Amino acid sequence: MKHKVIIIGTGPAGLTAALYAGRANMEPLIFEGPQPGGQLTITTDVENYPGFPDGVMGPELMDLFRKQAQRFGAETLSLMVDKVDFSSRPFKVWAGDKEYISETIIISTGASAKLLGLESEKRLMGYGVSACATCDAFFFKEKKVFVIGGGDSAMEEAIFLTKFASSVTIVHRRDTFRASKIMQERALANDKIDVIWNSEVVDMIGDEKDKGLESVILKNLKTNKETNHSVDGLFLGIGHSPNSGLFKEYLDLNDKGYILTKPDTSETSLEGVFAAGDIQDTRYMQAITAAGSGCMAAIDAERYLENME
Ligand code: NAP
Repeated sequence: MKHKVIIIGTGPAGLTAALYAGRANMEPLIFEGPQPGGQLTITTDVENYPGFPDGVMGPELMDLFRKQAQRFGAETLSLMVDKVDFSSRPFKVWAGDKEYISETIIISTGASAKLLGLESEKRLMGYGVSACATCDAFFFKEKKVFVIGGGDSAMEEAIFLTKFASSVTIVHRRDTFRASKIMQERALANDKIDVIWNSEVVDMIGDEKDKGLESVILKNLKTNKETNHSVDGLFLGIGHSPNSGLFKEYLDLNDKGYILTKPDTSETSLEGVFAAGDIQDTRYMQAITAAGSGCMAAIDAERYLENME
């Protein structure tokens, strides 16, 4: 069966695209990927999504998105796309052994947490080192933790961790935060949070087969002095990188791997393929802007199909 539109990825962008495509009778087929619902499913309170004056939990919000899309005929598959072929039309997508074909594609595969790239970080991931406070904070009750980064993610992780940990230290490589003012103020006003400025992690000490992470070596970037700090947990909040690997052969990407879209549209460098959400957004990266761009992608795909006819 040839589909009118296949949507790859189901954060706010993909599910909004599905809602609009469904309402346009395009019968969208959606591949949910490795993290159905996207990054909001690993966050707690979402306070900045309009329409929820008291806030809403991330996973609950994404369930509502999904139900709304399904109400208009969107078919969601809990599968991960492992190969695509966009070299000819209709476009081909494989999930497992099965091939799916479609006139148009909307890519909304989002971005994933960045890592520092240390060998010890890889070894101790899951043994005291984590990139998701919401998932793992519970294991650090009355423990001492570090959070790395100076953006909104780091502030959010640090604030959330104070509900469990005895102390939270934010380690940032500069002497000012990049985070929004409100998040910085909230973090700095919290008695359990302190900050080590101008410092980066150069190593993590611990044995994954024994006690896990035991200490972190920091280097002060002003003095070059290295210091050893005993910690029970380390959370990375240093940003994200785009999940665009599958598409790089077919689409123009920027130097960081984000899909390039034409100004004020969701059109990629390949006609009939559209991109929405964090996979193409290096500027705003909000749930509401992702949802907005998902709407744009569905409308762009619908008009593209109309013109084809
Ligand atoms: P971000 O804004 O890119 O911040 C990343 C932080 O990590 C920066 O402070 C950066 O330092 C630091 N960093 C990056 N690579 C590093 C490395 N190798 N070693 C040490 N530090 C490193 O990423 P983000 O915090 O994930 O936020 C991404 C977007 O999502 C933003 O638009 C943000 O507003 C949004 N967001 C919003 C909320 C909210 O509204 N509640 C929550 C989370 C995220 P430098 O500052 O020196 O570059």
